[in-house]
Amino acid sequence: MGNTLSFGDAEIFQVPETSWKMPVAMFGASDAQLERHRHWLQPTYLDAHGEWDNIVQSWVLVVDGRVIVVDPCTGNGRHFPDYPPAHMLDTPYIERFAATGIRPEQVDYVFCTHLHMDHCGWNTQLVDGRYVPTFPNAKYVMVQREFERWDPRRAGHVAVSANAGTFENSVLPVLEAGLAQIVPDTFRISASLDVAPAWGHTAGHSLLHLDSAAHEAYFVGDAFHHPLELLYPELDAGTCEDFSATLATRRRLIETCLASDALLVPAHFPCPFGVTLQRDAQGELSFTPCAADQSG
Ligand SMILES: [Zn+2]
Repeated sequence: MGNTLSFGDAEIFQVPETSWKMPVAMFGASDAQLERHRHWLQPTYLDAHGEWDNIVQSWVLVVDGRVIVVDPCTGNGRHFPDYPPAHMLDTPYIERFAATGIRPEQVDYVFCTHLHMDHCGWNTQLVDGRYVPTFPNAKYVMVQREFERWDPRRAGHVAVSANAGTFENSVLPVLEAGLAQIVPDTFRISASLDVAPAWGHTAGHSLLHLDSAAHEAYFVGDAFHHPLELLYPELDAGTCEDFSATLATRRRLIETCLASDALLVPAHFPCPFGVTLQRDAQGELSFTPCAADQSG
């Protein structure tokens, strides 16, 4: 069972799938930057082996009388030989989802920040050899710009081997079942929830903004992977399709969250998952790990 948070008038459930060890060196911080922050990076964000646990998790939001699943993880039995940590997973994600007390049939919306394999896999599951929608009564909200980026049927499609099969297994079956809701760059799901651009990591990478009872949170997917990128948004791990767009997105999100004291929830941060940002008189950024129920 994952964590449960309350935020404004929203209930938020974490559904963990797995975690992947990643070398912190991949984020490109200098030795001086690492030394400066080592005291708080260790052990959560930097372990004794120079790695950290990149958490793969979904958020289930209950707000406005609706149930919304954000970023349904990787899925079981998926073939990713180029990326062993995601290859042929066999996790009890469905059982963990059930532990929230919400049944998949009760989900009204599924929102994928982007269509990488670790953000849309449980859109579907294998049943009798066929991929079928996991949430049979949901509208699956996907931004058109992102949907088109990954549609291999389009002229000029640029394939990414690490993401091979994701569109066919996790997106097309939803489309064919009539459950896909392809939306423009900005889209309101309900009174408290709207979708907005957070481009860069992928062409149509987007965020979900929760504004409930004067509390704001931004579920920002992979705009940030590691906390060092909050302090040094110019760090480029080489995992973005358009890093200049990522940098603009990061800077905009940092300023937005500073101005509104909003909770920022990157996809892969460990417990307590969200952060609030602060800037001191010298202009230096810092952040506070902050679970939603502490601010709500
Ligand atoms: Zn990711």
